[in-house]
Amino acid sequence: MKFEFLGTADTGGIPRHQCHCMICEEARTKGINNRSTSAFLELDDGSVILFDAGYDTVCDRFNTTRIRAVFLTHFHADHCLGLIRLRKSVDGINCYIPDDTQGFGDLFMHKDSINYQVLEPFESIEIEGIKIVAVPLIHSKLTHGYVFFTKNNVVAYLTDCASIPAASLAYLQSQTIDHLFIDAAYSPSFESKKHLNWESAREYIDQISPKNGYFIHASCQTLLPLYKSSKSLKYPYIDKGFRIEV
Ligand SMILES: [Zn+2]
Ligand SMILES: [Zn+2]
Ligand SMILES: [Zn+2]
Repeated sequence: MKFEFLGTADTGGIPRHQCHCMICEEARTKGINNRSTSAFLELDDGSVILFDAGYDTVCDRFNTTRIRAVFLTHFHADHCLGLIRLRKSVDGINCYIPDDTQGFGDLFMHKDSINYQVLEPFESIEIEGIKIVAVPLIHSKLTHGYVFFTKNNVVAYLTDCASIPAASLAYLQSQTIDHLFIDAAYSPSFESKKHLNWESAREYIDQISPKNGYFIHASCQTLLPLYKSSKSLKYPYIDKGFRIEV
């Protein structure tokens, strides 16, 4: 079973429109386009569980693949845009969400094939023996992180958060997590009430102490000072296509 990232960047993606920084130029040269943060778990039978559906082309990538469920972290465009096309699927698709009555655009007005199901904090769903638990996070909108348990691994997908509530932190600390992915959208010099930076994210990883920790949801502007100084952090920023066997 593999867990792979469709994108690990922020809303603007890398390369960012009309940005000519070193990172964006290098991405253009290499033909890389790293879009907003989304990931998927591929089951042994080839079907997938999506964690966010951040961009339109998710429908193309999985066009003939069975989607067992979408676990949506929150209704910001960079995480749910893909549902706009997926809702026209011939199959019904279960989409687990935090209790956000506003949603995004007309997704709730025209649900079509998407069956939205609200998860309460720490509620879990089991799919083919994989347990997935909703873990509340603090962001500018109601947001869940997800922890999933396969036969061999425990993985935490914690995108988009400015902080982790005490109950969620206690839950995460009580698990033996193999791989933890966390929002580190900014450098510590940038003040934000919506996202962590690589310093506050590192503190959380240290407190939770998973076997492996990784940073996600960065823009080129976040990565640029690291790129220029060749500075490496305690935990790495990962790129689109990053995958682990779970
Ligand atoms: Zn750039
Ligand atoms: Zn967000
Ligand atoms: Zn986001």
